Amino acid sequence: MSILTALDLFTVGIGPSSSHTVGPMRAARRFVTELVDADKLTATSRIHVMLFGSLGATGVGHGTTNAIVAGLQGAEPETCDPAAVIGAFDSAALAGLITVNGRALTFEPADLDLRPMTRLPQHSNAMTYEALGSDGSVIFSRTYFSVGGGFIESDDEFGKAVASLSVELPYRFDNAVELMSLCDSTGLTIAQIAHANCVAVYGEAAVTARLHEIWAAMTSCIEAGLTHDGMLPGSLNVQRRAAGLARHLEDQSSTEDAATLGNEWLQAFAIAVNEENAAGMRVVTAPTNGAAGIIPAVGYYAQRFKKVSADSIEFDYLLTAGAIGTLYKRNASISGAEAGCQGEVGSACSMAAGGLAAVLGGTPHQIENAAEIAMEHNLGLTCDPVGGLVQMPCIERNAIAAGTAVAATRLALAGDGSHKISLDTVIETMRQTGVDMSHKYKETSAGGLAVNVIEC
Ligand code: SF4
Repeated sequence: MSILTALDLFTVGIGPSSSHTVGPMRAARRFVTELVDADKLTATSRIHVMLFGSLGATGVGHGTTNAIVAGLQGAEPETCDPAAVIGAFDSAALAGLITVNGRALTFEPADLDLRPMTRLPQHSNAMTYEALGSDGSVIFSRTYFSVGGGFIESDDEFGKAVASLSVELPYRFDNAVELMSLCDSTGLTIAQIAHANCVAVYGEAAVTARLHEIWAAMTSCIEAGLTHDGMLPGSLNVQRRAAGLARHLEDQSSTEDAATLGNEWLQAFAIAVNEENAAGMRVVTAPTNGAAGIIPAVGYYAQRFKKVSADSIEFDYLLTAGAIGTLYKRNASISGAEAGCQGEVGSACSMAAGGLAAVLGGTPHQIENAAEIAMEHNLGLTCDPVGGLVQMPCIERNAIAAGTAVAATRLALAGDGSHKISLDTVIETMRQTGVDMSHKYKETSAGGLAVNVIEC
């Protein structure tokens, strides 16, 4: 049975991209584990990695090369030092070697082989790792796909399951209709249903600890971003704005009303997270790195301006948002390479709207309505990162989507939960739109703003 819980959409990692940084780092780690298990490491003299499609096109700007070198040397997204990862490729190139599970292997920059014009049939984010013997022949090889949100699948796993576990969930649902039906028949909230499922898989103590860890990492990221000035890495010379915005809003606090400032702080919170992400720092995939600012920003806004307790944010907000995210992951996509930005920012906006409706006292049907409204107005959103960097339009886009999420929640809470277009319909529409979308608008930097903005 395929199991995906509300918790699985949130993982603590590093920026700037879940599919291009976190996923490849996990794939590199996994390749080394499989190489050791196959007893092939001692015969390996170097490792050659081919990055296909979107990974080849925008991998350098997304930190893929650094992530792979760090992953081959044992780094994990959850625990690595982000600053060390940023220099991993250059350090290895300078030294001419990498240390893999205690064994020194020759390394040259060409060992990471970018092939943007080759797209493997299964997925745009594909990478093949090859262990080469002393004569240059391939002695072990594995292909992985980075399918969004930091999730990876090998070629024999691809498309079969998100996670296979031998656990029977107490509340099984595959779509929003089934989720609403469970809420109606049990009287439980979406968060309570999601919690029961998470507990069945991970155990109660682990779920409580994970929720606390996720929210702590999200708030730390906001607070770090609100204090960091300077230029973001990369060729675009983008200045950080969140810290300046925060100083401006602090200055305004005696003259402006709280509602006005709340909306502006909301945007500052989202920008803070996405600037940290663009700088390669610690962030939480929510459900991806490119869209990592929306859910933390809306939750922090609810805590600060709507007086929602941290306990309610950790339980009701995150679990409701996560449950909605599983519907996108299962029935459409959260990957910009598969569905465009509607899959990343649109899904995050929808998850945040549902979560906010939950902590503001919405019924399950009002929550479903909020999530539906939020995605409905992100349909068709393309992925066109300028320079292959997760900066423009990504950073501002998170701020705007955070505002959309709050607006969607307000609209939904003004009604009784009944509405014409269901969440399932809008998720399926997003999926179809993603299928129809030209590859130029799916994380290749080959269309849209990416080709109309002159880099200088
Ligand atoms: S445009 Fe959207 S999907 Fe593309 S990298 Fe930026 S945030 Fe991600």
